[in-house]
Amino acid sequence: MRQSSPDHGLPPLPDPATPTPRRLHMITWGCQMNVYDSARMADVLAPLGYAPTPSPDEADMVILNTCHIRDRAAEKVFSELGRLRGLKAGRAAAGQRMILAVAGCVAQAEGAEILARAPFVDIVLGPQTYHRLPEMVARVARAGGAVIDTSFPAEQKFDFLPEAAAPQTAGGLTAFLTVQEGCDKFCSFCVVPYTRGAEASRPAASVLAEARRLVGSGAREITLLGQNVNAYHGDAPDGGTWGLGRLIRELAEIGGLARIRYTTSHPRDMDAELIEAHAKVPALMPFLHLPVQSGSDRILSAMNRRHTVADYLALIDQLRAARPDLALSSDFIVGHPGETAADFEATLDLVRRVGFAQAFSFKYSPRPGTPAAGAGGQVAEAEKDARLQALQALLRAQQAAFNESCTGRDLPVLFTGPGRHPGQIAGRSPYLQPVHLAGPATLIGRIAPVHITAAHTNSLTGTMHTAPMPEERACA
Ligand code: SAM
Ligand code: SF4
Repeated sequence: MRQSSPDHGLPPLPDPATPTPRRLHMITWGCQMNVYDSARMADVLAPLGYAPTPSPDEADMVILNTCHIRDRAAEKVFSELGRLRGLKAGRAAAGQRMILAVAGCVAQAEGAEILARAPFVDIVLGPQTYHRLPEMVARVARAGGAVIDTSFPAEQKFDFLPEAAAPQTAGGLTAFLTVQEGCDKFCSFCVVPYTRGAEASRPAASVLAEARRLVGSGAREITLLGQNVNAYHGDAPDGGTWGLGRLIRELAEIGGLARIRYTTSHPRDMDAELIEAHAKVPALMPFLHLPVQSGSDRILSAMNRRHTVADYLALIDQLRAARPDLALSSDFIVGHPGETAADFEATLDLVRRVGFAQAFSFKYSPRPGTPAAGAGGQVAEAEKDARLQALQALLRAQQAAFNESCTGRDLPVLFTGPGRHPGQIAGRSPYLQPVHLAGPATLIGRIAPVHITAAHTNSLTGTMHTAPMPEERACA
């Protein structure tokens, strides 16, 4: 039964049986987990009639899914809210309503502050409560006023989410799948343990079921996600516990799933079973994002990373022994409190020793409430800038060298969509490089060998390979 609109003139409560079509606009900042969360929020709202719309102009609901990992995140959110305030007022003047929600880690960290500074926001929700969105929408529609839910509920949100809809990226051919959330490691600089809460893994059966559904709706590649994805320890169907290596072996059995990736890993959680999966599971792509943050033991200790440079290098040796063509990516922070010029030199040295195919590097950004924010020895901004530029120049050169080393090789490419120019198609190499070439659109969704003819800063170009090649044989 549809409920009638109450006295205050708000729109009627959506009836899940016959929902009124409504438009949902989402703006997502931050990591792939936020991309996944946004897709799941859309899934949760679909039974209420909400369907995605690319513009906020006509939206009945706008969700800002925020990231708090580095500074200016909150400023970006407030500036976007300022813009949306006008749109919301315009819709109200036309007798229509726009529900405005702020989700994600900024909401978790600054929920009350958001409502104080932007009282026109209707819903503030943290990353662990979005399964309750329909209830929050109903409360806003019924009673008006703002709803805030930034709790860490006892119930696991995954138990309450509807089935994931079609894969979220690259024309549905590649999909993200969150298997683990939260973090107990408390690195000195990081807000994640505070905004995402304690580490928790989804049961393996639920992950396998979601993966089968994603493959059933067309995904050929799945990237397993977690803040510490390799800390995964999910309840197994056999009553035991599976680590990520075992989970990957089981996922690889799903017919039609050609490629598996995982991110983000912590060096301390790279166990023997996972390393072995790199040797034994052909579907596990030879590209690993393994953040090290610094090449100085002193700074790694100050960061509370609980691994040394020697540990990291030994791990890389083991991984390369398991999968000789493994390409590596990493995260680096420059200018952590206490970092001297010599510590920074040690980071450059580590980069030279490992050789990265690609990497992310950031200036240390003090996050309120984290131990490093109040630590002595804060590094001057100009020094951080200079170090970041030096590190990025080295990483760019390594990326260019890696891309260049692919020219003349034959790489299996998963074609994910049309290219930028007519007659072109685009896809991804096993090493996650975008590949562009002239080719028929009929190849989209397939993996086929491409002869790489040129390397660019962030991508490769090639020609269709004429000789037959095993689907996932990596480059020679
Ligand atoms: N769990 C992963 C690990 O431990 O390597 C990292 C996940 S974190 C969400 C993503 C990256 O953001 C980190 O690897 C780090 O390089 C960067 N990061 C986190 N906090 C930061 C801060 N306060 N300032 C600058 N970069 C930061
Ligand atoms: Fe943050 Fe990663 Fe450290 Fe956890 S392990 S606190 S997510 S950087």
